[in-house]
Amino acid sequence: MASTLLRKVWDAHTVRRLPNGQTQLFVGLHLIHEVTTPQAFDMLHARGLGVAMPERTIATVDHIVPTRDQRRPFLDVMAEDMLSALERNCRAHGIRLLDIDSGQQGIVHVIGPELGLTQPGMTIACGDSHTSTHGAFGAVAFGIGTSQVRDVLASQCLAMEPLKVRRIEVRGRLGRGVYAKDVILEIIRRLGVKGGAGYAYEYAGDAIARMSMDERMTICNMSIEGAARAGYVNPDETTFAYLRGRAFAPQGDAFERATAWWSSMASDPGASYDDEVVLEAADIRPTVTWGINPGQSVAVDEPLPSNADPEALAFMGFAAGQHVRGTKIDVAFVGSCTNARLSDLREAARVIRGQRVAPHVKALVVPGSQAVRAAAEREGLDRVFLDAGFEWRGAGCSMCLAMNPDRLEGREICASSSNRNFKGRQGSPTGRTLLMSPAMVAAAAVAGEVVDVRQFAPAEVVLGR
Ligand code: SF4
Repeated sequence: MASTLLRKVWDAHTVRRLPNGQTQLFVGLHLIHEVTTPQAFDMLHARGLGVAMPERTIATVDHIVPTRDQRRPFLDVMAEDMLSALERNCRAHGIRLLDIDSGQQGIVHVIGPELGLTQPGMTIACGDSHTSTHGAFGAVAFGIGTSQVRDVLASQCLAMEPLKVRRIEVRGRLGRGVYAKDVILEIIRRLGVKGGAGYAYEYAGDAIARMSMDERMTICNMSIEGAARAGYVNPDETTFAYLRGRAFAPQGDAFERATAWWSSMASDPGASYDDEVVLEAADIRPTVTWGINPGQSVAVDEPLPSNADPEALAFMGFAAGQHVRGTKIDVAFVGSCTNARLSDLREAARVIRGQRVAPHVKALVVPGSQAVRAAAEREGLDRVFLDAGFEWRGAGCSMCLAMNPDRLEGREICASSSNRNFKGRQGSPTGRTLLMSPAMVAAAAVAGEVVDVRQFAPAEVVLGR
């Protein structure tokens, strides 16, 4: 019978059905980092338990690492303590840690794919909401809480509620200056920030099929912002080409055998879905959030809705009917697990090449991993950013959530390529976040205000595809 990828992967990893209706799922890959593990390891130790499968567990450091000066010990004592605890726990349990001096450190959702750890047909868990990113490869990937991190460490299993599947088809071609970020912001705007509750989102259609793996990761990354428990794209030749030769991907004949199995895990033609939604790519425009959740967004050339949430308007200092375009910004941030991959940096650099950041704007680029940073430097992108007046930082989560020195101050407004615009998300309780694509952030940094990247970028710059 025709089946979906979600169902196939779920069935292949089911250990047993639990009496309460949940499924005990085997977890193929457990990614861990410094923030959600210290307590989980403490709970494990308190029960005298070890790590069931250290060989399926990989650690890195991302949330708390400073991005300006990454020498140890960190100046922030709490950050240093967290990293030391992770190092201790990894040593004690034989877990591979991709530390600052490894050359492979970075945001957990950036390094998993780039090292080939993330593969189709897998179940993946990580103590971070944006684990859905890994679904871009046709994996079923869940963000989990601290007590679930403990459970996976101890048993390599998770107790999960069954999920429905919503197929979201994006048809046609994206316009100039419209990126994967705009597509997912539009999906969340249409379906709502709670619309995905109880679902996994399957992204499909020719617009998704044409996307690179980086773009698919941006889409899947924000599934959780629409409340979907997971998001995925069926694996195809683009997926296999990306994985070929990666450090942890199967090599030689094993790779060919793996692609046959990976292909078999894709949703079958004629599979039935619990819900189906269609979007026309041509209808999607460069998008920017105006509110305090990622569903509160508008096309950059569109006014705020007349029925806009008054609490969000008051916090952000906007009025219904107003345009976000023209809003003066204080900070421009290109970074995060949504948009800090090499292609994101390339798009931002194309927009700003030969220009200068507005004098009143603090602008920073924080590559998603050490590998992204090195690759960007090989292409000379660091020079493009530095010459324009951006700061060029070390890899980490940085200003996405401000658990490190990179933070907004007071009522500052930040044009950000990250994924959350909640009150206080960027470190200041009153700071304001406008989510947008990296190209839009770059344009805003130079203009000093929110602009439409289609009108801002020089005509000879081919934006997007
Ligand atoms: S970049 Fe932001 S969303 Fe992504 S893992 Fe780091 S803190 Fe979480």
